[in-house]
Amino acid sequence: MNDIIKILPESVANQIAAGEVVQRPSSVVKELLENAVDAKSSTITLIIKDGGKTLIQVKDNGIGMSKNDAIICFNRHATSKISNANDLFKISSKGFRGEALASISAISHLRLITKQDNFELGTDIIIHGNEIKSNRSIVSEIGTDIYVKNLFYNIPARRSFLKSDNIELKHIIREFFIIALSHPEINFKLFNNNKEEYNLKAVSLKKRIIDLYGPKTADKLVPVNEETEILKINGFVFKPEFAKKTRGEQFFFVNNRYIKSSYLNHAIINSFDGLIDTKYVPSYFLNLTLDPSKIDINVHPTKTEIKFEDEQSIYAILRSAVKHSIGQFNISPVLDFDRDKSLDIPYNYVNKNNSDSIDLEVDTNYNPFIDSNNTNKYLKINSFKDELDSMEFSSESNELNEINFRDLENQNLVNSTFQLNKKYIINRTKGSLIIINQERAHQRILYESYLKSITLNKITSQKLLHPIEIEFTKPELQILKVNKKILTQIGIDFTISENQIKILSLPAYVTENEIKNSIDNILFHLGGNIPIESYSDSDFISKILSKSMSIKNGMSLDKNQQLNIVNSLFACKESRLCPSKKKIYIEISKTEIDNMF
Ligand code: ADP
Ligand code: MG
Repeated sequence: MNDIIKILPESVANQIAAGEVVQRPSSVVKELLENAVDAKSSTITLIIKDGGKTLIQVKDNGIGMSKNDAIICFNRHATSKISNANDLFKISSKGFRGEALASISAISHLRLITKQDNFELGTDIIIHGNEIKSNRSIVSEIGTDIYVKNLFYNIPARRSFLKSDNIELKHIIREFFIIALSHPEINFKLFNNNKEEYNLKAVSLKKRIIDLYGPKTADKLVPVNEETEILKINGFVFKPEFAKKTRGEQFFFVNNRYIKSSYLNHAIINSFDGLIDTKYVPSYFLNLTLDPSKIDINVHPTKTEIKFEDEQSIYAILRSAVKHSIGQFNISPVLDFDRDKSLDIPYNYVNKNNSDSIDLEVDTNYNPFIDSNNTNKYLKINSFKDELDSMEFSSESNELNEINFRDLENQNLVNSTFQLNKKYIINRTKGSLIIINQERAHQRILYESYLKSITLNKITSQKLLHPIEIEFTKPELQILKVNKKILTQIGIDFTISENQIKILSLPAYVTENEIKNSIDNILFHLGGNIPIESYSDSDFISKILSKSMSIKNGMSLDKNQQLNIVNSLFACKESRLCPSKKKIYIEISKTEIDNMF
């Protein structure tokens, strides 16, 4: 047989490699911002259009490139940052693989303008999919200005996988935050669709955190400083009472490089032991400085993983440094009278000795389904069933309609239930036993009710006598802004200012006390922390709401509440699966029970 192996042309190899380096617009942002930092810039500007799909531009005032380098930089493995294998053990720059520009230029329309300090003229290169379209001299400023347009123009499949502009922007802002936090000594600007979103002056880390997360953050920070032979730690943790359900604000930097490490994250969680509820996570911004030869950052192409030579010692030092800092802060707490009470969460250490069996205090007279105005019609089974018939069907429920629309009359549910382990509601029908997961059941009931109200535009919201003000960080406010329309649709009407929202009216199903928690929950899901499969905006928000508003496993329910759940559940269009498609109940038939004996 003839020889059949050939070496791929460079342009094809670059396109393949690009798949690994560039997953979405934010990957380009990360690489370009890192290059600008490596070029010793003091001011870096990021310009985005349409979530980066139309334009990603990074302009810096760094060292620039020579005429030759401006061409060579687009070759794979072209780098000025290392020159031999030994250099791999003492990396202090962000880049070193020489892959980014080759990859990005293979899959976009790229323009590079760059000039070094001691030259009259700069270089202007246009390159489309690795093919140089023009190369000329130009009058330009010192530094580098790169335009990346029409990303993935030659990989349509990749382009069609991109998410909405807002979601892509969210990823981009995350990368921007990471770089801005790891280099507070650099000025950063971010423009999105011609609007200035951030203008960050070179400052201390503390001020940078405050500039990014809002002025009230200042009261939340506890400094952490520790220096040992193998490791220096400096940065901030949030005071325990500001722990959150989301993981948004957790940043480790090793020698100014952002890394992810569940092992080190565990060290921090451990140092907060007993001070925060186990469902909450602490926020932190910590810089670790150590000898570059003691770490290996060459683990992953996107370089957020890292190997430490002496991981266990680092864990121990980190844990004790953070513990020490929180301890100091606890001994001399700052008196703070205007702290927002709604941000407080209960300290768990009071229960520490019997934390395995925490009994939730439940108001047994409280019925989650019946509000004083009696607006929650979905409890009245007959009318609900009628209304359901006129409701828009999801593909999901169509399919289930055939198999499992339970007719309550035939169901013969017995009017007596009991609760097992504060988690399951037990009922029986015609000789079989039904075990219902209370949380999932309630999620389903709420989901159908919300979906219906939103679809039919029937949410009633009540104007508040005194608007509620709740403080949020800038990124959180951004998420709220983007989703304002859908939130208004579900009855939460609010205005947004620089660091807070003012709630003007609430839907009937949320009380004023619950709203902060509900919005936190909504933010957690809208922020994309747990991907939710959905086919429409109303479906999405109904899923999120039902998840956050449902009663939870672990809550005691009185007989009435249990019965309400059982009845409402079997009046649902789909009673078997919760909105995230998990089993709501199991049924053990008479025969199965007999067979067990
Ligand atoms: P790496 O950063 O891993 O070296 P890149 O492909 O990102 O690889 O960049 C290739 C080279 O191009 C860099 O090593 C650097 O010499 C040069 N370069 C890239 N961006 C800039 C910039 N903004 N300013 C100056 N030089 C740059
Ligand atoms: Mg680079």
